[in-house]
Amino acid sequence: MDDHQGNKNGRFDLVVIGSGFGSLFFIEGFLKKRPRARVLVLERGRHYTHGWQVQHGRNSDIAHEQTFRSPEGHKQWNFTIGLGGGTNCWHGTTPRLHPSDFRTRTLYGVGQDWPLTYNDLEPYYVAAERKMSIAGGPEMAAILPRSAPFPLPPHRMTAVDRVMLKAQPEFHVPVATARASVGTTERPRCCAMARCTVCPMDAKFTFDNGFRNLRENPAVEFRVGCEVTHLDVVNGTVRTATYRSGAREDEAGGELFVLGANAIHSPAILLRSGVRHPLTGVGIHEKVAYSVEILLNGLDNFDGSTITTAINYMLYDGAFRKEHGGAVIYFENRWPHGLRREFGRWRQVAPLTVVVEDLPQDRNRVEVDPDGMPRVLHERVSDYATLGVKRSLAGLAKVVAPLPVERIEFRAMWPTLSHIQGSLRMGADPSSSVVDPKQVHHSVRNLVVVGSAVFPSCSCASPSLSVAALSLRSAELLA
Ligand SMILES: Cc1cc2nc3c(=O)[nH]c(=O)nc-3n(C[C@H](O)[C@H](O)[C@H](O)COP(=O)(O)OP(=O)(O)OC[C@H]3O[C@@H](n4cnc5c(N)ncnc54)[C@H](O)[C@@H]3O)c2cc1C
Ligand code: SF4
Repeated sequence: MDDHQGNKNGRFDLVVIGSGFGSLFFIEGFLKKRPRARVLVLERGRHYTHGWQVQHGRNSDIAHEQTFRSPEGHKQWNFTIGLGGGTNCWHGTTPRLHPSDFRTRTLYGVGQDWPLTYNDLEPYYVAAERKMSIAGGPEMAAILPRSAPFPLPPHRMTAVDRVMLKAQPEFHVPVATARASVGTTERPRCCAMARCTVCPMDAKFTFDNGFRNLRENPAVEFRVGCEVTHLDVVNGTVRTATYRSGAREDEAGGELFVLGANAIHSPAILLRSGVRHPLTGVGIHEKVAYSVEILLNGLDNFDGSTITTAINYMLYDGAFRKEHGGAVIYFENRWPHGLRREFGRWRQVAPLTVVVEDLPQDRNRVEVDPDGMPRVLHERVSDYATLGVKRSLAGLAKVVAPLPVERIEFRAMWPTLSHIQGSLRMGADPSSSVVDPKQVHHSVRNLVVVGSAVFPSCSCASPSLSVAALSLRSAELLA
């Protein structure tokens, strides 16, 4: 994993740009079918080991906000530049998308349908969950059907969750997570320290602890400190990827190119390459999130075994999605707003994170400035999301009715949920999508786009498990 020393190895079967969720799971799937393939990974950041991250209290020495521009007052974004991308900073919460999320146009007349169904992706969800040793409970299968149990048992829920699960077994389920519920050969058990961005225990799945097979595979070369600036495309075929490494510029040649530089930098690379599908960069979005606290009478919380212990689906799906976004509710086993001050009642509070889906809008987009820097325009979320926030807030009393509620207090809107999506959307029709159902670019046929950039619609579920499953599927279909 050295910095680039020169183009010593000629052409590769696979040249992969970026090394986050989308890229790593694509390589994993590709090598399953083509174990002798030669793979080159070009990664802008360096290898910040777990030890380095714990010592420095951050994931990278590159400030992500220095890698793009945004007009004043526009939305904030959050991501990691470094080997392993988002596997470093993520919290490891891994719900699948809901079957309805793939068909919102058909079911509710909004957004864009995905070019595949939940059932198409289900076997790849199972494979991604196995790779990441996901913990979860059997209860979830009633909401999100599964063909195999979770690899690890569920985390211990809190006293609050236990009341909720008893009253609402059809909605309230243990969280699905890549934070280990029991020790595995790769990771110790999560002990609910609630500092997951840099987990001191190394209990969540990361590049370092989860992809040793790729790191130790001599056929896979990781070149770090290599920022891909553009692709050289001739007659609809990528010939080389050009990259900067310190003061020098070089290029890498290959048969198949995989673009996984995240939903801001992937479209920027395409725009700088002159690959100008009209939807390139268009529709960038994420969910809208806010925090509330449920103040309780006589019920002590915070006895769960991980940072977030349960997910509530009561406000997620239904005919209301014709009018406004659905919401998923995370029950937290931490106290971001402090404990209660009243003597003896410190733990009588349930902090919740509510996440509402947005509708992608074409005016929100990634462009590139004349000096090549990405510029992200995102002035505001859709009315659909704003109404979703209002309706979910109004619906919370019904959700938490089984609890001894004293009062519900709104705490804060989040400036970002750190889930960048949808700037290179997938679909069967080239007039409404950039990549096809196998994630191959509609007009550059040896270029695969991976990562959350390809999401054609938002969903309120966290994206990374779906990114991983999509990459495994695409790799299997293409290898
Ligand atoms: C603090 C935080 C918490 C999160 N928690 C969760 C969670 O609990 N659950 C969940 O599902 N998701 C979570 N996410 C979101 C998750 O990280 C992303 O959804 C996921 O990483 C997207 O995968 P990707 O492959 O599209 O991009 P990334 O994983 O971001 O990978 C992009 C890669 O490209 C590299 N790169 C960028 N530009 C270039 C270039 N020009 N040349 C070469 N390489 C380049 C980057 O360094 C990076 O390695 C979280 C994110 C953050 C920031
Ligand atoms: S809750 Fe604590 S131990 Fe578990 S993954 Fe987060 S930081 Fe690590």
